[in-house]
Amino acid sequence: MASNENCIFCKIIRGDIPSKKVFENDKILAFLDIFPMSPGHTIVAPKSHVNYFEDVEKTEVCEIFNIVQDLANDYLKKLNIDGYNILVNSHSAAGQEIQHFHVHIIPRKMADGIIRHKIPKNQATSEELEQILKEISS
Ligand SMILES: [Zn+2]
Repeated sequence: MASNENCIFCKIIRGDIPSKKVFENDKILAFLDIFPMSPGHTIVAPKSHVNYFEDVEKTEVCEIFNIVQDLANDYLKKLNIDGYNILVNSHSAAGQEIQHFHVHIIPRKMADGIIRHKIPKNQATSEELEQILKEISS
């Protein structure tokens, strides 16, 4: 299993840094974020060090998101919440601060004041959509 000497998540996974674990198996660890956006904010990460989402084996993507779904279901039942965000920041441009792939589960309550994805006011033109579609499809 790949482990990175200087990676903070690898240190948590190795037990060098203590964490509040909510789930663990041989491949995946879920633990409470120590800078929570809301109570129960959880990090779900593969134990094997991979930098980015696109580096994760497809079968492991399935396993990780199965755990994410189970935890989200648990939190809905147990935490008196109204919803949750599932968030992956990939690469620094998208706000990824720890270069070890991970998924955030952020429990939400109505009007909790936490950031919310807003639909931009500017609607794309058909030509703009066609242009990006060409790039994706090429
Ligand atoms: Zn790591």
